[in-house]
Parts: sequence; C-alpha cells; structure tokens
Amino acid sequence: MDALIKEAELRAGADTYPRPRPSRAKAEDAVRTLIEWAGDDPDREGLRGTPDRVVRAYEEFFAGYGEDPKALLATTFEETDDYEEMVVLRDIRLESHCEHHIVPILGKAHIAYLPAGRVVGVSKLARLVDVFAHRMQIQESLTAQIATTLDEVLKPSGVAVVIEATHQCMTTRGIHKPGVSMVTSRMLGVFRTDTATRQEFLSLIRTGGGSGA
Ligand SMILES: [Zn+2]
Repeated sequence: MDALIKEAELRAGADTYPRPRPSRAKAEDAVRTLIEWAGDDPDREGLRGTPDRVVRAYEEFFAGYGEDPKALLATTFEETDDYEEMVVLRDIRLESHCEHHIVPILGKAHIAYLPAGRVVGVSKLARLVDVFAHRMQIQESLTAQIATTLDEVLKPSGVAVVIEATHQCMTTRGIHKPGVSMVTSRMLGVFRTDTATRQEFLSLIRTGGGSGA
C-alpha cells in the first residue's frame, strides 16, 4: 500500500500529461481488432459505427489526461484568514475505469480539508475528482492523487479523502461478486495525527471508516 501511494504521489506531482497520441484511424483499427477478437464481424451493420463510437467514448472517459489538476485549483483559491473550520464535500459521484481491465469503477468520493488561509470553491473539488477519475486508475492511486494535489496546492492543516466504489471487473467478470464495494482512504496532516478530527470527518460522511491510510 505504501509503495502504491508513493507511486501515486509521484504521478500526481509529475505533470507529464498529455502524452503524444496515435491517430484516430489507428485507434479505430484497434477497436475493430478487439471486435474480431471477441468473435464478431466488425463489418456487419450493427457494428460498423462502433469503432468510431468507442473512440469517442474514450475521449470522454479519459478526458482527464488533457487537464492539469493543479492549475484547476491554483487559479481559483481565495485568501481567507477567518475560516479555519473543516470543509467537507461528500457523496461526489465518481466514474472511473480500472487500469487493469478498462471497465468502470463507480462510486462516490468524500473530501475534507482544514483550511490554513486558502479555500477553493466546492465545484473545484468535484472537478478535481473528475480530472483524476477520467484517467485509467486503481482506487488506491486515485484516492492518494486527490489528497496529495489538494495538500500541495492549498497547503491546508489537513486533508481527508475517502472513496467507496464498486469495480465492474469484480462484479461482471472474474470472481463475479456483485454488491461488494471497496473503501479506500487517505488522511494527511491533522486528519492523520488527530483522532477526534478524523472521527468528526468520518461521522460527517456516515461511513464506518476506511482502510486506514
Ligand atoms: Zn479491473
């Protein structure tokens, strides 16, 4: 877990995106190949437009590679020296894709931070989740990337991120376990060191608790 988080932190910190891409035609050819691999005919009527549609869907699913999460937060913070209570945004809809199977991860994210001079609009917190979710992910990295980016940009007294999600690679293939959800958490600063602060956050989001951090 620690190794995964370190990797996630490196990835969150190193803004190497966007990378160069192959042509759209090449991407559509790859989808045709996967259709043939699945056992169907990419030239039959119902499938003729599918490579184009899949490539368009990929543009939506993975739009996060073209966005800079730090710029998103940095441009909107306001200076505030009187509000230092916990800011909590809970039940943020999460739609991502697992990097092992490229199938959906669906769930919700809860974010909190204790400001130390800087706050950011709540819509920006939701957008931050979207930027990282719209990349190929594992839930542990996604959780750590959101927390690390908030910590680096806002420099708050603490950051807490909890994600609860179901992985379709577990529910519709492999071990086929519907109803199982995975909970990951990342606690930084006072959320890590102060039990009362952490408990306040966890009770606010009405969850039994995460995996620890
Ligand atoms: Zn998977």
